[in-house]
Amino acid sequence: MASSKAILALPVPKFSETAAEQGCAVCGQRFQEGDKVRMMPCSHSFHQSCIFKRLLGNRVCPCCRFTMPAADEQDDDMSKKRRRSCTPGSYVG
Ligand SMILES: [Zn+2]
Ligand SMILES: [Zn+2]
Repeated sequence: MASSKAILALPVPKFSETAAEQGCAVCGQRFQEGDKVRMMPCSHSFHQSCIFKRLLGNRVCPCCRFTMPAADEQDDDMSKKRRRSCTPGSYVG
């Protein structure tokens, strides 16, 4: 799963910057002026809702297999990091 920070930080391209005739590789629809679109670092564009959903499950660009940065365990995870319950031997596998 991609870092949600990285997903949210994806730039919003202008309509003219999108490959409008190519459209969104996730849903196969062309971009309409006014659609919410996000551009991956590989310069492929997708509907915001399509790519967000997609990247939450699979951080790879559906067009070119560009891989988004993984969710790492830095700052944003610190606060919600759970303490491991300390029960040695209870975890199998
Ligand atoms: Zn789409
Ligand atoms: Zn791509």
